[in-house]
Amino acid sequence: MGSARIIWGEQRTSQSLNPLLVSLKGDHRSTDNGNMGAKETPVLTLVCPHCGEAFPSMMQMDRPTFATIRLKSVLEHCSACGKAARFEKGDYFFVPGEGQS
Ligand SMILES: [Zn+2]
Repeated sequence: MGSARIIWGEQRTSQSLNPLLVSLKGDHRSTDNGNMGAKETPVLTLVCPHCGEAFPSMMQMDRPTFATIRLKSVLEHCSACGKAARFEKGDYFFVPGEGQS
């Protein structure tokens, strides 16, 4: 049992040292990272008619979803002044996401 585990470990080590495998792995990784960077989630945003501050809508969705839904007079609360106001679909706009933190 013990000796079998040692042999398995040696095989894995020599495989990962194969330069072709390492370079293929590296290429795949960098492509993944590029896709993730470009895929920022836009924030559905409103401008408060009371204080003029922009604040994120309580209903967050992506652009394709927002394009398909029907909206009329949604009551939302401003996160800056706390007052409620009614918004229509044309009042909503997307702001590029700044990376969630
Ligand atoms: Zn406000």
